[in-house]
Amino acid sequence: VNFIFLSPYKTQLVRASVRSGLRLQGTSAAAASLQATGGHSASPGFSFELSEQQKEFQQLARKFAREEIVPAAAEYDKTGEYPFPIIKKAWELGLVNSHIPEDCGGMGLSIFEACLITEELAYGCTGIQTAIEANSLGQMPVIIAGNDAQRKKYLGRMVEEPLMCAYCVTEPGAGSDVAGIKTRAVKMGDEYVVNGQKMWITNGGKANWYFLLARTNPDPKCPASKAFTGFIVDADTPGLQPGRKEMNMGQRCSDTRGITFEDVRIPKENVLIGEGAGFKIAMGAFDKTRPPVAAGATGLAQRALDEATNYALERKTFGKVIAEHQAVSFILAEMAIKVELARMAYQRSAWEVDQGRRNTYFASIAKAFAGDIANQVASDAVQIFGGNGFNSDYPVEKLMRDAKIYQIYEGTAQIQRLIVAREHLGKFKK
Ligand SMILES: Cc1cc2nc3c(=O)[nH]c(=O)nc-3n(C[C@H](O)[C@H](O)[C@H](O)COP(=O)(O)OP(=O)(O)OC[C@H]3O[C@@H](n4cnc5c(N)ncnc54)[C@H](O)[C@@H]3O)c2cc1C
Repeated sequence: VNFIFLSPYKTQLVRASVRSGLRLQGTSAAAASLQATGGHSASPGFSFELSEQQKEFQQLARKFAREEIVPAAAEYDKTGEYPFPIIKKAWELGLVNSHIPEDCGGMGLSIFEACLITEELAYGCTGIQTAIEANSLGQMPVIIAGNDAQRKKYLGRMVEEPLMCAYCVTEPGAGSDVAGIKTRAVKMGDEYVVNGQKMWITNGGKANWYFLLARTNPDPKCPASKAFTGFIVDADTPGLQPGRKEMNMGQRCSDTRGITFEDVRIPKENVLIGEGAGFKIAMGAFDKTRPPVAAGATGLAQRALDEATNYALERKTFGKVIAEHQAVSFILAEMAIKVELARMAYQRSAWEVDQGRRNTYFASIAKAFAGDIANQVASDAVQIFGGNGFNSDYPVEKLMRDAKIYQIYEGTAQIQRLIVAREHLGKFKK
């Protein structure tokens, strides 16, 4: 990972320097030790301290969010326009696709580091952050299960150009119950022919390629772990048709669509691992993508807390600023408690997976908790703003609308609890 220092971003992380293999600040050893410690500072034992590099990532993303995203967010929310100019700038700074492995030309950041960046971007606008994050979700099956040729081809091109991709699993009839998906892939010679309908696909109309989960074994008795296959599908494949952009409650500039597959022919080279391996790949990706979703929810909650605090220190009632009414200060205190704990939860879950350990339990705890508190904290911010909070000239009603999806996508609040219960009870079973 390399930094060169340029204005206007003091710590611009320049993709070109990464690609050319330059190493700055003599950090080969530092980078190795960073990797060995799962992205934490090299000090032995338990530490909450970020390394200098991690602070640089965080600062760069924070500056970008404050200067580029915050001023543009309300307009993108109003128009629903896709925020490509902002995504392109973020890509140029290395704030998109940061986890693409180094052997594919990427920066190979840890999940922990990617989460630090995600939290900061989400502070600016979670619609924009979700569009960026959907790339990670689409790429993760290829990162964890792609062969060398697939990784170089599909991840490599995203380092060369600011392209989007998508994770194409949910269908109109099946979301939480992934094993209920009906899209079929039938092997014909050296190809698979796919027919079916997907729904709620983030970056659905903007993706250059998709990770697709389809059923390959028609036998209803076949277990999920063998019945589904994961594919990489180029977006321009004939028969693949994205639907209209869905108008959602929040995160309105993120592009969400249904996608129709009609006799879409996919070469067998684009199968991940092999026929029947898809379910595990699709589910396995979540261990690495739920921590950043929790980080996004935390960023939104931090923004709501900051907006509410600034307002409470200015707005006067009964002769004093409302922050001096104890009832209001206690709401702020509760909000702060929740934000701090959500941050610890996502950092723990990211750190666990960076250690190479199974983090399913921690990832679901983080996703469930951060998703819930983002909603509570955003609603509290609206409360502190009073009537102004209900109005779109102020920033907090958008936060409340944007927050809701964190309890729905990447596994609903209920599904996270099912997972935590399963993992927890599993420890007690003899
Ligand atoms: C804006 C947006 C973006 C999205 N992006 C993507 C994407 O990029 N790729 C993708 O593949 N999908 C995406 N999704 C889909 C998303 O992951 C699903 O909507 C979600 O998993 C819930 O599935 P569902 O909508 O079918 O609800 P259902 O599964 O029908 O659930 C309905 C309700 O029942 C509850 N429920 C269901 N089963 C149980 C149970 N066993 N126990 C207790 N409660 C239960 C749920 O928690 C929920 O409250 C997106 C969705 C939205 C809205």
